[in-house]
Amino acid sequence: MVYDVVIIGGGPAGLTAGIYAKRAMLNAVLLEKMGVGGQIIVTDLVENFPGFQEISGADLAGKFEQHARKFGLETKSMVEVTGIEDRGNTKVVKTSEGEFETKTVIITTGTTPKKLGAKHEFAFTGRGVSYCATCDGFFFKDKTVVVVGGGDSAITEAIFLTKMAKKVIVVHRRDKLRAEKINQEHAFANPKISFVWDSVVEEISGKRVVEKVVVRNVKKNEVSEIKTDGVFIYVGLIPNTGFANVKKDEWGFIITNDSRETSIKGIFAAGDCRVTPLRQIATAVGDGAIAAVSAERYIEGL
Ligand code: NAP
Repeated sequence: MVYDVVIIGGGPAGLTAGIYAKRAMLNAVLLEKMGVGGQIIVTDLVENFPGFQEISGADLAGKFEQHARKFGLETKSMVEVTGIEDRGNTKVVKTSEGEFETKTVIITTGTTPKKLGAKHEFAFTGRGVSYCATCDGFFFKDKTVVVVGGGDSAITEAIFLTKMAKKVIVVHRRDKLRAEKINQEHAFANPKISFVWDSVVEEISGKRVVEKVVVRNVKKNEVSEIKTDGVFIYVGLIPNTGFANVKKDEWGFIITNDSRETSIKGIFAAGDCRVTPLRQIATAVGDGAIAAVSAERYIEGL
């Protein structure tokens, strides 16, 4: 059987592409490495997706999934894509569960949190070092935690952590945050959050679990220690695009044109995994819609 479209990745971009593909009567399947929902599942609170003033990431993901199911989108979980072979008018998506032949592919595989590269970071992962406050914040009730980074992830998760932790110390390598202004204002107004500016975490240490971090002030070139029970790392994103043999930028984000088509005809990309000025749920959803409509037009032209 040859599908019209294989969507790789089940976050907001993939599920939206699925909704648009099914409404265009395309024979579509969505493949997902884990379960559908994407990274927003571990986002505590979403406040900037229109129509929902406040909704948890998991609830919003559930709504996207229900919506896609209503239009009969076929989804397959626990399927890992390893490559895409371009055979001209068809493509073969190679996966851990076999091959899927299709006329078009939409890649919506998102990103994975970047590692910091601090000494002993790996050894303490799961023993105080975490990349997911929603998953692990609970373990730090009435404790002190360090959050590394100055972007929206670091700041929104620092605010979330104040619900459990008694103290949240944000360590940022510059003296200005990158996060949205409204998130900055919320963080500055929160009495549980303090900031260590112009500083990088060089080492994480402790006996069995995290007890402190070694921090270097990059302006003064001075080293100091901060006692902490946990370290939450939010220093950016790595695109999940290793399997895709399409043109990418130097960081691995997929390059697309306005139709969200990649360097290979019939292969499209949408959402956080592509080169884009903004990585939000709202932009991922828009991307998914454009990619699905572009796939439909491409198929019509075959
Ligand atoms: P990001 O915007 O790339 O920010 C990464 C942060 O980590 C920056 O502050 C950066 O410092 C710092 N950093 C990078 N490498 C570092 C290193 N080696 N050592 C120390 N610090 C380092 O990543 P993000 O915060 O994960 O956000 C990703 C995207 O998702 C963004 O587009 C963001 O707007 C979006 N997002 C939005 C929301 C929301 O509520 N609207 C929530 C989460 C994410 P510099 O600032 O000095 O570069």
